[in-house]
Amino acid sequence: MTEPTKDNTFCFYPFYALVFKLYENQDLKAVAPCCMMHDTWKPNIDQVNSVLSKEELEGLNPYEIFYHEKFKELRKNLLNNVRDSNCATCWKQEDKGILSHRMYSKWLFEDEFNTDLREVDVSISNKCNLACRMCNVGSSHQLWEDVDKLEKSNKLRLFEKASNHSLRSHNLPQDVKNNYLIQWIYHNTDKIKILKASGGEPLYDKNILDLLRKFVKDGNSKSTELAFHTNAILITDEIIELFNEFKLQRHTFSIDGVDETYEYIRHKADFSILEQNIKNWFKKSNNIHIVNINFVLSALNIGNIIDFLEWIALMFFEKIRCNIFISEVRPEGRGIDIKNLPIEYLKSVQTQILEFKEFKIKKYDFHYEIDKLLSLIDHAIQNNICNLKKLYNEIVLLDGTRNQSYKNYLDFSLIKILENV
Ligand code: SF4
Repeated sequence: MTEPTKDNTFCFYPFYALVFKLYENQDLKAVAPCCMMHDTWKPNIDQVNSVLSKEELEGLNPYEIFYHEKFKELRKNLLNNVRDSNCATCWKQEDKGILSHRMYSKWLFEDEFNTDLREVDVSISNKCNLACRMCNVGSSHQLWEDVDKLEKSNKLRLFEKASNHSLRSHNLPQDVKNNYLIQWIYHNTDKIKILKASGGEPLYDKNILDLLRKFVKDGNSKSTELAFHTNAILITDEIIELFNEFKLQRHTFSIDGVDETYEYIRHKADFSILEQNIKNWFKKSNNIHIVNINFVLSALNIGNIIDFLEWIALMFFEKIRCNIFISEVRPEGRGIDIKNLPIEYLKSVQTQILEFKEFKIKKYDFHYEIDKLLSLIDHAIQNNICNLKKLYNEIVLLDGTRNQSYKNYLDFSLIKILENV
């Protein structure tokens, strides 16, 4: 079986997966085989990368999408060392020397590798319990509160400039519970072997929970794996019971730091509740296969990363296999991008990470994306912008709407840097 390597363009996702996350009203306006494809835009067109256009998607069911000529062409390209332009997210990362998303793709099924739709990854609304600093209204409706306050104080344009227009995303997943694609999944639970969901916060959305109950009712949950991208704040006993009805769980928890750093970034979350919830979930679940943690690297948490890695070890070491994935904050170059930090600060964090790598990593035996982390910091040093004003503006403008001060949350060295702006 072909495997993704640096010397080829192969990727498994287009052979078994579809992602439905971007809508216009009730209609899907983009489709991808992985959640990363939509992170980059088509050159010269105001549209994210998508295998089919909104017009081409009209009226097609998931099978028709999956076997569409354009998907066939994508598969052909990826098998033949052609860098398909839709996969620019991966090529850009690889050109930076970073292990791209495709490198982690795998054939996850027991039978022989073939082309067969088995996984769907859905977002069906922007409803969320949190208002994270790097997020946008397309993924959390709670951020409208910040938009309103910034607008009323005439600071919205300033914030948009500082954050590279991050707040008001164009990709607004509306409440699409009656969308025909979601309905298709609802009526074809036997066909879905891996159900992925993100949001918004999938556990905040009653429609996602109804979809899970339908899998149970149809008797298909025991042959379906669950892979939710969740902030883990809403995992109750009732939800654990529902999760236990499925074949296995391999969720990804979004955790971008520990203690105050976490609470500052993940606004409205409480770190002790997160900890309790994860422990409770761990104790009462009977089908956890693996735990993935996604850490969105930004100027706000880079100084907290060693504490974060130690905390992960404390939570999961010798209990379960744990993968820690590091993502870049988007859009590139926004105020809180690590490229806006001074080189000396980046180098001091880099030294701490190298020490951690040397003395702790082997002991913990987790999959840490430490090399990716180091290459992202290296990239930020090589392409340093050090626009401290932009960093400061993005931080304090949001502090203003939230009645907060970064001085109560961030690491001491970063506070010092910000105080001198
Ligand atoms: S190559 Fe990258 S962008 Fe393309 S489908 Fe694979 S993971 Fe997604």
